Amino acid sequence: MGSIVLFGPPGAGKGTQAQRIMEHTGLPQVSTGDMLRAAVKMGSPIGLEAKSFMDKGALVPDDVILGLIKERIQHDDAANGVMFDGFPRTIPQAEALSNLTEITHVLAIEVPDERIVERICGRVTCGACGKVFHDTFNPVPPEGCECGSFQEKRRVDDNEATVLTRLDAYHVQTSPLADWYRSRGLFHSVDGDRDIADITDDLLNILN
Ligand code: ADP
Ligand code: ZN
Repeated sequence: MGSIVLFGPPGAGKGTQAQRIMEHTGLPQVSTGDMLRAAVKMGSPIGLEAKSFMDKGALVPDDVILGLIKERIQHDDAANGVMFDGFPRTIPQAEALSNLTEITHVLAIEVPDERIVERICGRVTCGACGKVFHDTFNPVPPEGCECGSFQEKRRVDDNEATVLTRLDAYHVQTSPLADWYRSRGLFHSVDGDRDIADITDDLLNILN
């Protein structure tokens, strides 16, 4: 196989779809955001460097991100490819990635800016299993998460002020990647402003 890139603005639903696609393709999700948050939590040197950027909603420097990715794709579970979520986010990251692994599909999830803020500002994840919920659009069931040990987790950068900075970073630094991948024949996009299951169906159709 090869690797897949999930592309789209913050709050587009990349993580939600990554989990659903993983069940079908077996490709592990590689989320640079999750890796960075783990590093921040551990207090590692990478975490200490990344934290100030993340808290502001700015992108973490490319060399930090590429260091994490190079290490991650050495793991055994990445042998048949991975599903990148939140990476690459700049042209230099995409260029570096093209020398590390073959990308077969870039799947863009399109969501208009005005929907992003409301989506991000109600976001909850289960700290035990990582499943993503939303207060309004995908609430945690009354019996809790299906993993059986629901722990409510909310991200510190999921607030209105930081979301606007993250959106700006997306438009200025990340969205040029759409044309970069389009010109290489790898770019596919789906409307992300619909039911979660309908989006998954479209994404799986593109992969099949
Ligand atoms: P979202 O896509 O919802 O903004 P992520 O969890 O993907 O959230 O990323 C959170 C933060 O981590 C970003 O705002 C940024 O600071 C940092 N980050 C994650 N991935 C990258 C990347 N590939 N390049 C630079 N910074 C990144
Ligand atoms: Zn759970």
